[in-house]
Amino acid sequence: MNLMDLMPLWEATSNNVTKREPLEGDRHCDVVLIGGGFSGLSTAYHLQKEGYDTVILEKDKVGGGASGRNGGQILTGFSDSMSSILEQKGIETAKAMLDMSLDSIDLISQIIDENEISCGFHRNGHIVAAYKDSHVDKLKKEQETLKKHFDYDVDVLEKHELSNELNSPLYRGGSVDPNSAMFHPFNYAIGLADTLEGMGGTIYEKTEATNINHEASNKVVVSTPNGRVIAKEIVLVTNGYTSENLHKKIARTIIPIESIMIATEQLPEDVVSNLIKKNRACFDTKNLLYYFRRTDDNRIAFGGSGRSTSKSDENNLFNNLHKGLLDVFPELEDASIAYRWGGKVGFTREFLPYIGRLDDGTHFAYGYAGHGAAMSTLLGKVLAENIMDNDRGFSPLEKKELKTIPFYSQHAKVVNLMKYYYKVLDSIKN
Ligand SMILES: Cc1cc2nc3c(=O)[nH]c(=O)nc-3n(C[C@H](O)[C@H](O)[C@H](O)COP(=O)(O)OP(=O)(O)OC[C@H]3O[C@@H](n4cnc5c(N)ncnc54)[C@H](O)[C@@H]3O)c2cc1C
Repeated sequence: MNLMDLMPLWEATSNNVTKREPLEGDRHCDVVLIGGGFSGLSTAYHLQKEGYDTVILEKDKVGGGASGRNGGQILTGFSDSMSSILEQKGIETAKAMLDMSLDSIDLISQIIDENEISCGFHRNGHIVAAYKDSHVDKLKKEQETLKKHFDYDVDVLEKHELSNELNSPLYRGGSVDPNSAMFHPFNYAIGLADTLEGMGGTIYEKTEATNINHEASNKVVVSTPNGRVIAKEIVLVTNGYTSENLHKKIARTIIPIESIMIATEQLPEDVVSNLIKKNRACFDTKNLLYYFRRTDDNRIAFGGSGRSTSKSDENNLFNNLHKGLLDVFPELEDASIAYRWGGKVGFTREFLPYIGRLDDGTHFAYGYAGHGAAMSTLLGKVLAENIMDNDRGFSPLEKKELKTIPFYSQHAKVVNLMKYYYKVLDSIKN
């Protein structure tokens, strides 16, 4: 099963898509970007706005990677809890990180407004649904930490209160953060791409970067099957799709994890609005978590790993996920599944995004760990600022030294990486 061959709901229900030609011949520019997802589009957008000439190389199509395949949940915070980040990084860095996550949502909202991108953006907040009673206690502790150290408010709900939010027998309570948002992710990606081109930026689709050569003349040359881009600066934003052939060092610091989604047929509005009552983004506290939402065309879109254990048969992934949907919302028993798709989520060994610049001058940002719908747009802006002004100050997510993840060798198989991931996840969540 190749997840890339399954059409996501978002693509099937998108605005008009601009088709772009592959690169033929040589093209000179200020900045070449590899990867046409949110990270690459945002970086190019912010550079182009300041008069830089940018070229994006995308091996598939704009939004063809995780950016056009995700749950469209624009979440506050990070994959790790703020309590854990506070413990690891200290209060100053943790505060700066929380601020970044809130800024990232404001920035998306601003870009959408300024450029009239039609992508169903709305900011109704998110729910974390607790799978066990002990998880409600953890949510309460997180709430206390957020209030005490960050002066940040979330609501914690007991089981009977959760029914005002979710019509699900599965969960024991939950918490609500009012600041998160949602959008149609593919429409945001293609809207940002059209905006970028309207500003003079260039995007080549079906154009795989196959080699990067840093030349003595401070130029970088990126080769593709039928042409080259010669630029002053390079940005590598291929995230979970980074291949070792293109950039061994960066590829070996990313754990690509497949996440899959299903979406129901269109349902009567009263059915979906009775399941997720305030139209918030939702995810739960299970080790192999579920995330779900309503869509603007009245479906339930539901995601997860599809694994009931780390040993699940690959072929059963979508069936398992469908069972999960029915555990959460038994009322959907008769609803048919209209779309199934998946994509690669990029993780780092710290479960936090990395941004920075290698000694050879390559700028990078990746590893959003399932929280990139928000953070990738902001880190794109930071990458652009780094290129425009190399003396910029401290960024809490900056990574000066990239360490290869455990088990990564020339012959490492994704399955080993996944075992590592599940082991780490178990140790964090249990
Ligand atoms: C199923 C799924 C659900 C998710 N749900 C959520 C969610 O609800 N909320 C959230 O915050 N995050 C979610 N995520 C994660 C989120 O989608 C990502 O963090 C975000 O899209 C990252 O954007 P990006 O631009 O860094 O990477 P991507 O969008 O993956 O873009 C990388 C691009 O690089 C291209 N590329 C790779 N190699 C080359 C090459 N050699 N030459 C040219 N191009 C190349 C790829 O084709 C791809 O388009 C989800 C991800 C998946 C897969």
